[in-house]
Amino acid sequence: MIQYALACDKGHTFESWFQNSAAYDKQAKRKLIECPMCGSAKVEKAIMAPRLARKDKSTSITVREDMASAQADATTPDSSPVAMISPQEHEFRKKLKELRDHLTANADNVGKKFPEEARKMHYGETEHRSIYGEATAQDAKALHEEGIEFQPLPVLPDERN
Ligand SMILES: [Zn+2]
Repeated sequence: MIQYALACDKGHTFESWFQNSAAYDKQAKRKLIECPMCGSAKVEKAIMAPRLARKDKSTSITVREDMASAQADATTPDSSPVAMISPQEHEFRKKLKELRDHLTANADNVGKKFPEEARKMHYGETEHRSIYGEATAQDAKALHEEGIEFQPLPVLPDERN
């Protein structure tokens, strides 16, 4: 943590703590630092004689972390987990959708006959092809026990019922 003496454009001076100087620079650039006296976002480092950090009455403020991290980009090390995960989740979801689209475009939908069709293929009664459909948990267990390999069709988060 680092403490800076800051001043707004109206000449109010106050002090604020930051994780590091880069965090200050980022927050200052995004105008996330406000003067606690007038609310002005035009805040700069004040030129002051250095003094010992102490717990001050009302002149110290901390910039709202949630605001800062919500706008932080995923590559900055001091981002919150939410900001870092969101783009990845988005990417993951896109991949899931691609996989699902690919599967459903290139496979036959056999619906509830999936266990039956899967068995037929497994035991050589019909030609091997890509199929998808529905299987109950019981069916799935039985198929696995018979050594029939299949994968659950990816379900996108907002498609569940
Ligand atoms: Zn001010």
